[in-house]
Amino acid sequence: MKVLKFGGTSVGSAQRIKNVANLILADGQQKIVVLSAMSGTTNSLLEISGYFRQQNPVGAADVINRLEHKYSETIDELYVQDSNKQKAREVIREIFDYVRSFGNRAFTIFEERCIVAQGELMSTNLMNLYLLEQGVNVAFIPALEYMRIDKNAEPDFKYIEQNLKQQISANPDAQIYVTQGFICRNAYGEIDNLQRGGSDYSASIIGAAIRADEIQIWTDIDGMHNNDPRFVEGTQPVRNLNFDEAAELAYFGAKILHPTCVTPARMYNIPVRLLNTLQPEAPGTMISTVSEQDKIKAVAAKDGITSIRIKSSRMLMAYGFMSQVFEVFERYKTSVDLVTTSEVGVSLTIDNPKHLDDIVTELKKFGTVVVDPDMVIIAVVGDMAWDNVGFESRVIEALEDVPVRMISYGGSNYNISILIKAEDKIRALRALSAKLF
Ligand code: ADP
Ligand code: ASP
Ligand code: MG
Repeated sequence: MKVLKFGGTSVGSAQRIKNVANLILADGQQKIVVLSAMSGTTNSLLEISGYFRQQNPVGAADVINRLEHKYSETIDELYVQDSNKQKAREVIREIFDYVRSFGNRAFTIFEERCIVAQGELMSTNLMNLYLLEQGVNVAFIPALEYMRIDKNAEPDFKYIEQNLKQQISANPDAQIYVTQGFICRNAYGEIDNLQRGGSDYSASIIGAAIRADEIQIWTDIDGMHNNDPRFVEGTQPVRNLNFDEAAELAYFGAKILHPTCVTPARMYNIPVRLLNTLQPEAPGTMISTVSEQDKIKAVAAKDGITSIRIKSSRMLMAYGFMSQVFEVFERYKTSVDLVTTSEVGVSLTIDNPKHLDDIVTELKKFGTVVVDPDMVIIAVVGDMAWDNVGFESRVIEALEDVPVRMISYGGSNYNISILIKAEDKIRALRALSAKLF
């Protein structure tokens, strides 16, 4: 069985929902369909939560009313039969009543998670009813009944596999199983989520749990492009990526894929295909174990990076120094992306500055500490094996006019990463495209 995930734009209007329905019914095969919220909904739900947190019920009501109106219009356009319009209106009204009910109580992250979960619940309910109206044998499988994360926010695979299989076997003959991306329960049974963009991750977890034949991520572009199309013109789709290359690109900012999406698929060697709902015949990108040699595949940029340099001629060469430095980051549950060392210092980067002040205070025990905020990691990904001559030099040449703070190479066979200032990101991406592709 295949797992097909459709992102927010792909289900962003009544017409788009109909297109998705046509797409999933075309081959007549049984499949699991994972949906995101309609585009803009999750942002609106977060905005509503923001107003509730600020105890501004009028602000919240304004956004709620606008969002509800959008759903009401979608329902009018989506269904033919009045009875189905009525059913859909009831489902959506109940959800909006639920969202409004949060205006009368203390507001914490728990309430916010309950509110943001409603986007995926709405889109899947609309799709489910639409498929029923089309006479399809559809089974609605609620993610909150099987998708769960543990205390470390990692998927609880055993639980997911067991419970998902139960849900499926309750309806063995269904042609289409519709379920929500993004939302889950946490170790305490509360409503939680897999972070922004997490529906890709849901699809991959589901694919791994059922050992799917293929996981398809359907979005608004024809696959992974060789550079970020939001900043660079003339980017091209990359036809094949291996799991490592795809993971590096997703981790280093290629928004088309959630950073951890590849991991579950790779665990069971399930190919992941990136496809375009607006152009379904385009081949897209195939992510599998197949590697293409001697090729630079793509460039991506990860924003919001802080670099930290610790200068210490006294201790660097002493054994135990590095582990003491890293132990500080471990204590503050802050992961490190890039590391470079010299005889007199070590530089590293983090993407989560939450505990920066405490970390810096502790690092000052080891030497002089310099912090540079507002940095960007540019990752160039492809067959970067060290015996391939000339690839690094082309990357460096492309960036000859850009001030470079760190270069990291050799950590994997697939990546060279460069740290630059945020203000230089766009020209660096463009220079790399011009030189490499
Ligand atoms: P969805 O809502 O379907 O999950 P996303 O917005 O999360 O879609 O991801 C698709 C978007 O990712 C594209 O519209 C594109 O702007 C952006 N993107 C960033 N980098 C890349 C890349 N290297 N290749 C393709 N798309 C990219
Ligand atoms: N709806 C969620 C978001 O906007 C999850 C997703 O679309 O993948 O982040
Ligand atoms: Mg996405």
